[in-house]
Amino acid sequence: MSPIGVRGLSVELGGRRILEGVAFDVPSGSVAGVIGPNGAGKSTLLGCLYRHVPYRQGEIHVDGRELRSLARRDIARQIAAVPQETPLAFDLTVEEIVSAGRIPHTRATGLRTAHDRDVVEDCLRRVGLDHLRHRSAATLSGGERQRALLGRALAQDTPVLVLDEPTNHLDLANQEQLLGLLRGTGATTVVAIHDLNLAAEYCDRIVVLADGSVQADGTPDEVLTPELLEAVFRVRCHVVPHPDSGRPHIITGARGRS
Ligand code: ADP
Ligand code: MG
Repeated sequence: MSPIGVRGLSVELGGRRILEGVAFDVPSGSVAGVIGPNGAGKSTLLGCLYRHVPYRQGEIHVDGRELRSLARRDIARQIAAVPQETPLAFDLTVEEIVSAGRIPHTRATGLRTAHDRDVVEDCLRRVGLDHLRHRSAATLSGGERQRALLGRALAQDTPVLVLDEPTNHLDLANQEQLLGLLRGTGATTVVAIHDLNLAAEYCDRIVVLADGSVQADGTPDEVLTPELLEAVFRVRCHVVPHPDSGRPHIITGARGRS
């Protein structure tokens, strides 16, 4: 059980206030989507969650413990991240990338156990890359690369996952497959998503960020209203129930008409 609680989180970078009083909760085992326009502060917020971006004001609790009180290795056993545009060493193979997820669990001897190998095998299969295990990172397509990074995060076997726009570079089928896979992990998940309809389908809760502060926070039904979308994204749209799921589905206004 690893609920996340963010309280009064403010961040300044390069002399500018990037996040201001951000607060929200993610119940244990649920998936929270973070949406908002470009530059809203989504990546900065996620960076705070995986301790890449330092914060001085506010608190982030995971399973009741403030992140700053945890050693890096303890955080890595709690939280796995798929950052946006992660640099990958080109000489690594897919299997080596996924295996790197086991590092926080490896003993000082550096020896991998049978369990480590089983986890890596399982994760390679889950992200559909077992047939590409010996391919070097340099030769991967954008989608394969993204799946390798997800495999690494899954191999970390943490109760919390943080992912920054993981569906970018993926085609429709792979977007759905990746988000379905995320849902199936049972981990408490925070995911920045650009596509609002994917967020509506796959997230239990949605946090809307704009100009560094939370504009709305709730279920997709509560949050994804035409009024909010116009205020935050400056687009007029219709919100209709999805014919299969009943969740909100966003249709932007006809283009080229006034
Ligand atoms: P998003 O992911 O929502 O597009 P970001 O968190 O990447 O937003 O960026 C939010 C704002 O913070 C942007 O205006 C960006 O230019 C600024 N920013 C991000 N990182 C830094 C940094 N290291 N120094 C100064 N400004 C930054
Ligand atoms: Mg971003």
